[in-house]
Amino acid sequence: MTTQDVFCPNSDCLARGQTNQGNIRVHSQKEQRYRCTVCQRTFAASKGTPVYRLHIERQIYLWALTLLAFGCPPIAIVRAFMLDERTVRRWHQDAGTHCMQVQHTLVETQRAHGQIQADELHIKTHGGVVWVACAMAVASRLWLGGVTRYERDHTLAVEILALVRRCVQPDTFWLCVDGWSPYVTAAREVFRSKLPRFGRLGRCEWQTWPGLVVAQVVKQSAHYHLVGIIRRLAIGEWSLAHRWFLRTQGHGVFSTAWIERLNATFRQRLHAWRRRGRARLHSASAIQATTYFVGTIYNFCTPHCTLSREHPTTPAMATGITTEVWSIERLLTFHPAIEPWEPPKHRGRKSSSELVCLARWRPDYLLPSEQHLVRLHG
Ligand SMILES: [Zn+2]
Repeated sequence: MTTQDVFCPNSDCLARGQTNQGNIRVHSQKEQRYRCTVCQRTFAASKGTPVYRLHIERQIYLWALTLLAFGCPPIAIVRAFMLDERTVRRWHQDAGTHCMQVQHTLVETQRAHGQIQADELHIKTHGGVVWVACAMAVASRLWLGGVTRYERDHTLAVEILALVRRCVQPDTFWLCVDGWSPYVTAAREVFRSKLPRFGRLGRCEWQTWPGLVVAQVVKQSAHYHLVGIIRRLAIGEWSLAHRWFLRTQGHGVFSTAWIERLNATFRQRLHAWRRRGRARLHSASAIQATTYFVGTIYNFCTPHCTLSREHPTTPAMATGITTEVWSIERLLTFHPAIEPWEPPKHRGRKSSSELVCLARWRPDYLLPSEQHLVRLHG
């Protein structure tokens, strides 16, 4: 057992969520428990992951989830391992929720991604249709995430582009989408920043990022047959778009082929995404969780054939998030980041003990004058 990157999960602890602060000790190797020297509480190594308090052998759980991750029908797992159907469904959902937190921790960090493609598609459920919008970085094949809604509306476009914004640095990416018009208005709404007021009164003006490029690939069809494709630039200048295109793609034309190929991978690996399948899910949240389960395993555990010319490489390795192919056990026992301890709010001046405590655990909560006070009194 190693104490590296382990944090205290206790909600009342001052050191909650903070890694490598020297407050974690191994409490019991045999029981796989740690102890926090700040709150003096012990906790299981698996706390905060889906394998915490499993009532079944871990290997059976991992086999069941590996089969689910690659498209095995849940009923086959129920029959093979003599499990309850509701148990398998709960495992699938809980693993999906965990994978969503892993993606928030590791993938949703600002990086230079180059070309990004986004697409939306509808999935049938027991109660109707759910729309899922996904985005991916083309160079590293990294799936950035997905959002679900019951309506295909402007909010769906805003939510998926807001997710893209959390993953990119300004002026280091360009976007290629299909002909659905809300992407363009949503991109103007999401990829913008405040203009400085230079002492003037009133609200800040917003400006769309000057280097933003959004290309659209509009497919024209008649009687369900493709009759033509129009490629146009919805936002940005052609010279800039051409430069981006040469740098990130090199040859060919604007297309949404990569995200459509990724959609096919999801359809292959997730029973709820199949066009003519009968194993439907019930809600948008269930679809989102199971989609994240498949997407995170695609990112971290599955080498991508177009990246693996020299050695097996996953999209997460190509992005630089990790240096090796993860096993599904490693993914499901990874501890996603949790919110650190929040100091209680109160009126009046802070006491000296409170200042010492803040200086040690939440220095970002100290005012400049208080920082001076703490330095003065050591
Ligand atoms: Zn603690």
